[in-house]
Amino acid sequence: MSKPKITIVGSINMDLITVTDQVAAAGETVSGTHFETLFGGKGANQAIAASRLGADVSMISKVGDDAFGAEMIKNFEDNGVVTDGIAVEEKTPSGIANIIVSDKDNRIIIIAGANGQVDKAHVDNYTSVIKNSDMVLLQFEIPMNTIRHTLDICRKEEIPVIINPAPVTELEREYFEAATYITPNEHERAQLFKMREDGLPEYYEKLITTQGAQGASYFNDGREILIPPKNVDVVDTTGAGDTFNAAFAVAIAEGRTVEEAIYFANDAAGLAVRKLGAQSGMPMREEM
Ligand code: ADP
Repeated sequence: MSKPKITIVGSINMDLITVTDQVAAAGETVSGTHFETLFGGKGANQAIAASRLGADVSMISKVGDDAFGAEMIKNFEDNGVVTDGIAVEEKTPSGIANIIVSDKDNRIIIIAGANGQVDKAHVDNYTSVIKNSDMVLLQFEIPMNTIRHTLDICRKEEIPVIINPAPVTELEREYFEAATYITPNEHERAQLFKMREDGLPEYYEKLITTQGAQGASYFNDGREILIPPKNVDVVDTTGAGDTFNAAFAVAIAEGRTVEEAIYFANDAAGLAVRKLGAQSGMPMREEM
């Protein structure tokens, strides 16, 4: 079988993770216990996961003209992702997520940086890549106008597209209609899709809902069917949804049924949560 071609138009971040027992209050300085930089960003995570699972992956995005940008491009190259569609934006920082992990909670500040410059004109430079894709995968960490524009291209060219509506952002109904599948987690689904009078959520035929430790569901003849997850020792669920999305996209692009694709995606995400960090646990195809 030839490898499926998957294109991701999305974000690339460096995750700056500070672990501390005590969170500094205003005006206070405290000592933390640990610091780590890890590759992240929903678009990047999904690209790396899909590539490890055996797809031909092209990433359309931007990084800043800083050290993080160079490291992030190298990370894609090391993982076999085609980087022709990644531009280096001058005088702009790369996207980062500042993550403070303490006993009580996680605090996250995202600076979009170069992700905020992924505009329609940039996508237009790579229309031929999109047209040659078996599947396009979108998340909501780049400007929504770019998402709308990419969906317009996919609709016109009849390219299947998955919308992973995260983080939760409103989008006009006509754009959700352009999606082949929509993959919210439970919270995103509750916030974005109303219940209809017949008790089914809007777009239920397209909805694949990830439900954390419960697995993931789809609708068959108006009945919601939950597919159980892999039984694993969980270390860190960061990026679980990203691995799920990538694996689901790969399986669908390979011609599997929705149910088969969800089993495959649960397995991939289950392997990914056994390691710390979004990308470190993402499985290679041979491990599946
Ligand atoms: P998100 O990370 O986007 O919030 P979820 O938490 O719903 O997404 O998790 C995505 C997928 O990761 C799940 O559908 C499941 O396949 C897998 N997963 C998440 N948590 C666990 C867990 N505790 N055990 C096994 N698999 C898990």
